[in-house]
Amino acid sequence: MLNIRYELTQNKKEKPDYNKLGFGQYFTDHMFLMNYSTEKGWHDARIVPYGPLSLDPACAVFHYAQEMFEGMKAYKTADGTIQLFRPMKNIERMNNTNERMCIPKVDPDDILEAIKAVVAVDADWVPEEEGKSLYIRPFIFATDARLGVHPSHTYLFAIILSPVGAYYASGINPVKICIEREYVRAVKGGTGYAKVGGNYASSLKGQEKAESMGYAQVLWLDGIERKYIDEVGAMNVFFVIDGEVITPALNEGNILPGVTRASAIELLKSWGLTVTERRLAIDEVLAAAAEGRLNEAFGTGTAAVISPIGELNDGGVKHVINKGEIGTISKRLYDTLTGIQWGTVEDTLGWTVKVK
Ligand SMILES: *Cc1c(COP(=O)(O)O)cnc(C)c1O
Repeated sequence: MLNIRYELTQNKKEKPDYNKLGFGQYFTDHMFLMNYSTEKGWHDARIVPYGPLSLDPACAVFHYAQEMFEGMKAYKTADGTIQLFRPMKNIERMNNTNERMCIPKVDPDDILEAIKAVVAVDADWVPEEEGKSLYIRPFIFATDARLGVHPSHTYLFAIILSPVGAYYASGINPVKICIEREYVRAVKGGTGYAKVGGNYASSLKGQEKAESMGYAQVLWLDGIERKYIDEVGAMNVFFVIDGEVITPALNEGNILPGVTRASAIELLKSWGLTVTERRLAIDEVLAAAAEGRLNEAFGTGTAAVISPIGELNDGGVKHVINKGEIGTISKRLYDTLTGIQWGTVEDTLGWTVKVK
């Protein structure tokens, strides 16, 4: 149990226009903070007014990127219930990331308590409309003010909240993606499976290149042979070839184990579809596309849930997938997952957790 101290604001902000939320642009009235030191462990859990932090310029995180983050959402159902989607999966992943980054672990029950507490305090920020949600961003960073390259002795754990709009404001639009053969995101032995800012910093260049060519996302290949598919942008990726659903296996350690990915696999199997987790060569996908056997492709992640892929560009050669339209499997997954999240589809798998 955390003994959370509450210091609530007297000046609540004016809410933004909920029809123009976008993603991650507005933040709620409060945030959760908790400190770590070697002597005291995790301590001083508190919910305080949202605002700037004062940090020493020598803080380890600014120089050597010892930090981690998570991303999940709170959804409001028609009867006013606020619920989370499989939060313990994010919390488990959080500690796996901490382990990789030499950041001290946090008691999983304490993390859930902190998330629920801060969401409950700012419950009036959770959007009412289906499709809109409250994005939850827990993160931890190293705060030792020393330039030596060592794991820090002190950390700050924060949770901030941001109301976000419907990802697909005007219907689901399949995205065009570009195969990246120059830059890589992760390699075996690296931090690909951990949710850390450094992975994103190193992905910006490839992403910028794709955007300059008019593409939404990058298809990342493995960093060693440049042959096997890892992920698409910041999403896990699935291909349907001859009716078989294939997604890259996690065992190389360069792929982020998505909660949406795991949930999609479970649902697909429960529907009796064949789902295979294995190494998937880009050449196999391109051959299937050329022979008309690539039925569908989609990305999975908390932000978009299911993101159909309508076109795959390989150095100028364009492969259109499913006529650039959303496929039946992608659509069924999207409807089921979002239905469970917003409480319009019965949660038979016990995936939702009530905040209040
Ligand atoms: C967060 C993330 C995902 C998706 O994970 P979800 O738990 O489904 O949101 C996929 N790839 C990368 C690189 C990520 O950071």
